[in-house]
Amino acid sequence: MRWIYRKFGLARNKNLNSDYFKGLNFLLNEETDKAIEAFIKVLEVDDETVELHLALGGLFRRKGQVDRATRIHQNLIARTNLTERQRYEAIHELAQDYYKAGWLDRAEGLYDELKGSETYRCAAIDGLCSIYQQEKEWLQAIDILRQHDKAERSQRAKQIAHYYCELAETSLENLDLDAAQEYLSEASNETKDNPRVTLLQGELCYQKEDYLAAIAYWEKLQSSNATALQLVMAKLITSYQQSSDHAALKQQLLAITAIPKHGQDFKVWHQALVSVLGEQEAQSTVFSRVQEEGLSGPAANYLYNIVAESTASNDSMYQLLKELLRHAKRKQVEYTCRGCGFDTKLLYWHCQNCGEWDSFR
Ligand SMILES: [Zn+2]
Repeated sequence: MRWIYRKFGLARNKNLNSDYFKGLNFLLNEETDKAIEAFIKVLEVDDETVELHLALGGLFRRKGQVDRATRIHQNLIARTNLTERQRYEAIHELAQDYYKAGWLDRAEGLYDELKGSETYRCAAIDGLCSIYQQEKEWLQAIDILRQHDKAERSQRAKQIAHYYCELAETSLENLDLDAAQEYLSEASNETKDNPRVTLLQGELCYQKEDYLAAIAYWEKLQSSNATALQLVMAKLITSYQQSSDHAALKQQLLAITAIPKHGQDFKVWHQALVSVLGEQEAQSTVFSRVQEEGLSGPAANYLYNIVAESTASNDSMYQLLKELLRHAKRKQVEYTCRGCGFDTKLLYWHCQNCGEWDSFR
């Protein structure tokens, strides 16, 4: 038990009362609730166990036992004789408990209070930002991040740009093109060459039926983020068709090696391939892309239909191929986070698992 004295700075010769040892015993025997009771009892009489309580509370939260963490931290804050540093530390811990438990209003109140502390100001601003992000209150999230000091603020530029993109997406859905334009300008002021901003600028031009401008934006994505380009593949093809630039369409169809991952996009892409290259060459292009890019769900579906309709489909090799394709069709994973390896079916801009931005490919 000596490490506990060292770790929490307790004087070895201090006359700790018996409740304290009772608490430690309960904890070591994994009788957690009894241990908490015992510790809370000690806290009322012994000042030096504040650090121990903070450590225990944090430990419970990390293990997902948020109600236990909350009890410990609430009990700490209720004390009147904490130093200012201890009090702010306990508030910071409790705010994280509330956030994790989904009590966002309570967490917000505590983070607001914490902003007054020099040590916790930065953590409080980021804490408030995560709450607004969860509530999809993008303007509030932007506003709070802008309250960071200059050095911290510059590290949040990408994040702010993404919040403006969220606002621009909603404006585009509501056909409020002026608002979308304004949000996208704000986003480009934050970061240069952000693929999501480029994607949405193209989207805005597309909605304005300015197809050449849309093409110009989307072509930029080919080198910077081909995954994002796939999201607008069908619209890109339509833009070429609308601007009657068939030579450019053919060139793009041959240049873009990625296979559209979603059904409708895949269909538009395949029909464009057939119209530009003819049935036979379109089919061999699809097959060669599969060899390079692997098999996505819609590609598997397409190939499955070809094999299923084939006259040789009773052949055992064809049966095997059919089974493989049937299996591939069921595979749901389409995108993986480069930050943590998290797999998803849809493309996200923000990884819920590791917090990275622009990390899915
Ligand atoms: Zn991740």
